[in-house]
Amino acid sequence: MPRDPRFDLLFEPVRIGPKTARNRFFQVPHASGMTNAAPHVRAAFRATKAEGGWAVVSTGACSVHPSSDDSPFPCATLWDEADVRAHAVTTEAVHAAGALAAVELWHGGAAAVNRTTRHAPLSPSGVPWMATHVGFMSSARPKVMDAADIRDLIRWHAEAAVRAERAGFDILYVYAGMGYLPYQFLMSDYNRRTDAYGGPLRNRVRLVEELIDAVREATHGRCAVALRISLQELRARPSAAAPSEAHEVIGYLRDAPDLFDVKMDYSTTDCAASRYTPESSHEPVVDFVKSLTDRPVVGVGRFTSPDTMVSMIRRGVLDFIGGARPSIADPFLPKKIEEGRVEDIRECIGCNLCISSWHDGVWVRCTQNPTAGEEWRRGWHPERVARDGRGRVLVVGGGPAGLEAALTLGRRGFDVALADRARTFGGRLGWESSLPGLNPWRRVADYRLGQLEKMPNVMLYPESALSAADVAEFGADHVVVATGARWLAHLCGANELPAGPVEAPRVYTPDDLAAGVIPEAPVAVFDYDNYYLGSAVAEHLAGRDRTVTYVTTAGAAAAWGFMTNEQPLVHQSFARRGIALRTLQIVTGFDGETLRLAQIFSGEESRIAARSLVIVGYRAPGSALYDALASHALPGSLHLTGDARAPGAIVHAVYQGHRTARELGLAAADIAVRRDAPFAPRDFQLPEVAE
Ligand code: ADP
Ligand code: SF4
Repeated sequence: MPRDPRFDLLFEPVRIGPKTARNRFFQVPHASGMTNAAPHVRAAFRATKAEGGWAVVSTGACSVHPSSDDSPFPCATLWDEADVRAHAVTTEAVHAAGALAAVELWHGGAAAVNRTTRHAPLSPSGVPWMATHVGFMSSARPKVMDAADIRDLIRWHAEAAVRAERAGFDILYVYAGMGYLPYQFLMSDYNRRTDAYGGPLRNRVRLVEELIDAVREATHGRCAVALRISLQELRARPSAAAPSEAHEVIGYLRDAPDLFDVKMDYSTTDCAASRYTPESSHEPVVDFVKSLTDRPVVGVGRFTSPDTMVSMIRRGVLDFIGGARPSIADPFLPKKIEEGRVEDIRECIGCNLCISSWHDGVWVRCTQNPTAGEEWRRGWHPERVARDGRGRVLVVGGGPAGLEAALTLGRRGFDVALADRARTFGGRLGWESSLPGLNPWRRVADYRLGQLEKMPNVMLYPESALSAADVAEFGADHVVVATGARWLAHLCGANELPAGPVEAPRVYTPDDLAAGVIPEAPVAVFDYDNYYLGSAVAEHLAGRDRTVTYVTTAGAAAAWGFMTNEQPLVHQSFARRGIALRTLQIVTGFDGETLRLAQIFSGEESRIAARSLVIVGYRAPGSALYDALASHALPGSLHLTGDARAPGAIVHAVYQGHRTARELGLAAADIAVRRDAPFAPRDFQLPEVAE
């Protein structure tokens, strides 16, 4: 189909200093968890986006010097020749697919506590960055930079720029955002200097200007120089010279870089979870930048709708549509718009599982795109799969795992029957996406159903509860069981070890609520699953005018939600909705009137009034059908996938379903899993800093 002329604007080329981007789709720097230790994994991940039509493909943060070491978080480096080689694999692959390659040169300052290199962190005035924040926590306080340190910092950027150009990068970033060193110079809270780099904003901007100049001079104007800058706090601060400090800073820097990449200051606002933050949430902070500079501006906002993208350009907010998460969820987003296939876009759901990968220190994972991070290792392409399927496959269970399995099997060419006992497909998503803020998650089912409905070789059978005898009678060549998991009304003891079920009236699990139960108030929600569902259930019940106490074994509500940037927002939501919070507690008893609690460390007991108890804890795999089928003589192979195999988050179910479908019918010898290795010359040496 030809592309809709409404979207032509998105496919205009745009100049960035000495370079030209082929269109307005710009994959801004984002963490991938792929360090120089996995150069081919990283190259394939980035190049897939170039193949999918992004005009610019960027690295994540790339350290310019060992005094900026983020370990154990995964962090790329540009310290030496081995690093040049590692990055060149990416730039070659990105260029081969027709895109420009950008590198985010990065010095973390006080936000990088150098756990491995053991240099003292550097900072303008010795103020630590979120020193009690999990992950950044350190008892090492940063060194106040003297004039020689500032000269070194500028030189390190210039030297890294030379290496970056040698590695093949077209666009070199100076990064003044998200708490990192140049940002700390901009902010009066962190910069209390009295020299030429501190005091009035004109002075605080100086370091950023000098870094831009140094990077440009080092590459003799051959590379474009981009400035990535966080404007949220600056925009909130009044200025005598301009409407805000953000206006003042952009005014000083208006002609300095070839491109502005504008963003928020904190991961929770910059990469906000959809649960609490809509698409395009950056606009009120960054909307003024283009009015102050002629340089092109890129910004993000979890854009997946081409109409919103066009509006951002037409209204003069942005020149480039920046994408991090949308480019992970669908590397082919630009191509799909270009080819008039907007309905085929696999829209990011804003769950931030991808962010959790960085916090976990591993390659990026994505709920919507199971192939993310597997492009090289397993050879999985997000759009293509070998069309080698022969015969009929019955998939039982149309939740995330079954839908993904059916889709991938259909693409392989099998004749697929997908059956679910429910009236609508989507499994757990059916009810969960009706909970407060979780509606965008429905996209996981909607995308797959939209694709399946177009496939002539796939038949959908809703309202079809299948027994083992039904399945055997169906006579498929292969059977995939994706029957999900069920929640248990069990308590837990010390160390979250399983304890028995509670024998009392009005004890419920999420499955009961999904079936329509609205518990009697006051309700206690006991959450030792600690991801999103317990807190979403509490919000749901508070929205039904129930008095709710949320009890958790963890030290915070939705404790694992720290990994997805949701946790602070859950706390804010609880405060708004009047949900009482009891942390570090286990439930020791419930009789339908009173809930007994014990503090997990001290054992101190307490009681709260509760007529109902909702337990969000363990799940048991719903593998009964599979177990029953094992004793039937089936004509072909039998597979167990998704939560029925091992209960997990939606990301795990989609991945498992995809893998089952990719590998079904293949011999083990035909399933290739490659192992990457770093480039490390024997004479490799860390550059040392004189203390
Ligand atoms: P997953 O996350 O692994 O996809 P879900 O729990 O979301 O798991 O989905 C499992 C789906 O399987 C549900 O929609 C459920 O209705 C369906 N299901 C479970 N048992 C049967 C069965 N015997 N016959 C048909 N559908 C079933
Ligand atoms: Fe979007 Fe979730 Fe995928 Fe991240 S993991 S790109 S937030 S769908």
